[in-house]
This record gives sequence, structure tokens and C-alpha cells, in this order.
Amino acid sequence: MKVTFPHMGHMWICLQAMLEYLGVEVVVPPPSSKRTLSLGSKHSPEFACMPLKLNLGNFMEAAERGADTIVMAGGCGPCRFGYYAQVEHEILKDLGYNYHLVVMEPPEKHIGELLAKIRYITGKSSWLEVIRGIRFGYRKALAVDELERLAMVRRPREIKMGSTDGALQQALAEVVRATDFRELEKASAGGIEIMREVRTEERPVLRVALVGEIYTLLEPFANQDIERRLGSMGIEVDRSIYLSEWVNDHLFMGFIRGLRSSKEYCRSASPYLNHFVGGHGQETVGSAVFYARSGYNGIIQLLPFTCMPEIVAQSILPGVSNDLDIPIMTLIVDEQSGEAGMTTRLEAFNDLLYRKSSAKEVLA
Ligand code: SF4
Repeated sequence: MKVTFPHMGHMWICLQAMLEYLGVEVVVPPPSSKRTLSLGSKHSPEFACMPLKLNLGNFMEAAERGADTIVMAGGCGPCRFGYYAQVEHEILKDLGYNYHLVVMEPPEKHIGELLAKIRYITGKSSWLEVIRGIRFGYRKALAVDELERLAMVRRPREIKMGSTDGALQQALAEVVRATDFRELEKASAGGIEIMREVRTEERPVLRVALVGEIYTLLEPFANQDIERRLGSMGIEVDRSIYLSEWVNDHLFMGFIRGLRSSKEYCRSASPYLNHFVGGHGQETVGSAVFYARSGYNGIIQLLPFTCMPEIVAQSILPGVSNDLDIPIMTLIVDEQSGEAGMTTRLEAFNDLLYRKSSAKEVLA
């Protein structure tokens, strides 16, 4: 069995670590690229959202490297994600791919089924080993998130342009190389040290929060590397979703204390949106409120074209923007999105934030 999975930012680092820790052979698909997207778009329904198209392209590219089993998350909310895996599998079958599909359904709804799937993938490993494997993958997620956070703070203050990106790649490579807990501990500390060595200077920077649909937030190819672009414009960025927090919320049911939780965002969404609308729609509204109250200068909502939960959130965000006096821009991405359009909109947003913050200083 050669297992593959979709790319979503640096999630591959944690999944590969967890599966290989348990002796499962893994085929990581090549990073998502224009080729991935055009392969996926060519064979997907046009109205499907972009993550489905990129997932499909990932699986086609992984098959070229010998993958024969897909592991994919399931879902049971009102958005289309719940039947993505099956749709992708049917398309692949029609195209002549002979993939075996394993869908991991959310534990709160199908715990027995989930355990049976884990047993199928991990074969002879004992449950104790499985727990250690999951812990190992999760520790990598925590390490990766910490490095990404440091990069977002240091990038707008770096003295030598591009030095943060170089350091981040080096630090991530250390984390990827670690094969056991002891090595991982050393690699995490070493990675943080590499990031701290990036030379920076104190300068006033604008702070912008990215909120929205999880895939578009985490996958740099889908969002056209927005964190790096904003950082190089001198903007400090934070995002409403990190992989380790999402795993803690949805797979560990909030077991690990001290991490940010989507429940807090859902509470902050009231009175604008008081119920679940699928995906991260409610969290998007709540996180926008949270960032506005935390003194951020602006918010960017990211979503794939036709994403239903985020369309609901998009219609509510102007109210949040007015009430809390914070500029909010929505960026919608799909296979037609171009680099120039993204650059122009980010530059215009940056100008707007800069003028607003300068005006505040003059009036103060
Ligand atoms: S949350 Fe949006 S992008 Fe994700 S599967 Fe649902 S509709 Fe598609």
C-alpha cells in the first residue's frame, strides 16, 4: 500500500511523519502548481470549488509516483466537502486510475468507523503505537505553526529582503528530517534559533489578519502566497486558522488546553451570525470581530469561488466593518485568478490602511 493525500500548506509534513512513524509507505504529491490545477480543472465539474480541483490534480500527480491509496478527510456539514472524496474517486475511476479510497470521517459522528479506517491504514501497529504516531505528527504540526508565526512577524521587519523566507525553508527542513521525538525536539529548537537569527529592525508596521476558508488560508499556491506578499510590503500578518489548532478542535475535541479554539470565534460571531453555516463561515465572522477588537489595521477574507459558507460570511462582514471601524477586503480565488489582479488589490488595500492609520496619528 502506497498512501497519498491532498496538499494543504505544510500539512504534508505532519501526515508524512505520522504515517512513516507507523511504517506506512507514503507518496507525497509534488507541491501544488499550475500543472496540478490544470490537470484537476480539466476533469472536474466547472462549478466545483478550487480545493476539489487541486486535490484531484494532487492525486493524479501522486499516481505518477506510484501512489495507490488515497487518505482523505470526510465531513457532514451543509457544504460540499462531505462528498468531495467520493466525487474525486469517481472522476479518477472514470479516468482509469485504480485508487483505493479511505475516508476519515469526523470522530464526533463516526468514531467506530474512524477507528476501523485507522486500523486498516496502520496494519499491525498496536493502538499504543498508533497514539504515539499521531502524537509525533501533531508535534510536527505545532513546530511548523510556530515557525510560520515567527516568519510572519519577522518578514515585515527584515533588513535583507528574502532572508526570512530562506530561514523558514531551512528551519522547516530541520523539522522534516526529524524521525523521532528526541530529534524533533532538537529540530524545533534549532528551527526557532534559525528564525531568530534573521536580522530585523524595529519599525512601525501595519497588522493585517487573514480569515476565511481553511484550504485557501493554508495553501500558498491557492492564495498566491499572500502571507509572503503582504510581509514583503511591510505588513505583519496573522491568520485565523493554524493546522495544529484545527486538529485540536476537530480531531482531539479540544483536548489540548491553551490553544486558540474555533469555539471562541463562534462566540465572537454573535450577534452577527448565531449558527453553523458549514465550513468555517461562522468562525470567519467571529475571527473578524476578534481581530478588529485586538487592534488590527485591516482584515482580508479569502475564499474559493462558489464557497457557500464563506459567501454567507461575506454578506455579513460589511456590518462588522462598519460597526468596528475596520477595513475588510474579500479576495475570491479560482483557476482564472491572475497574479497582477492580486498584486493590485493588495497594494490598494495597503494604501488605504496606511492612510487610515496616518490619519489616526494626526488626529490623536
Ligand atoms: S468550505 Fe467552501 S471551499 Fe471548502 S468544500 Fe465547502 S464550499 Fe468548498
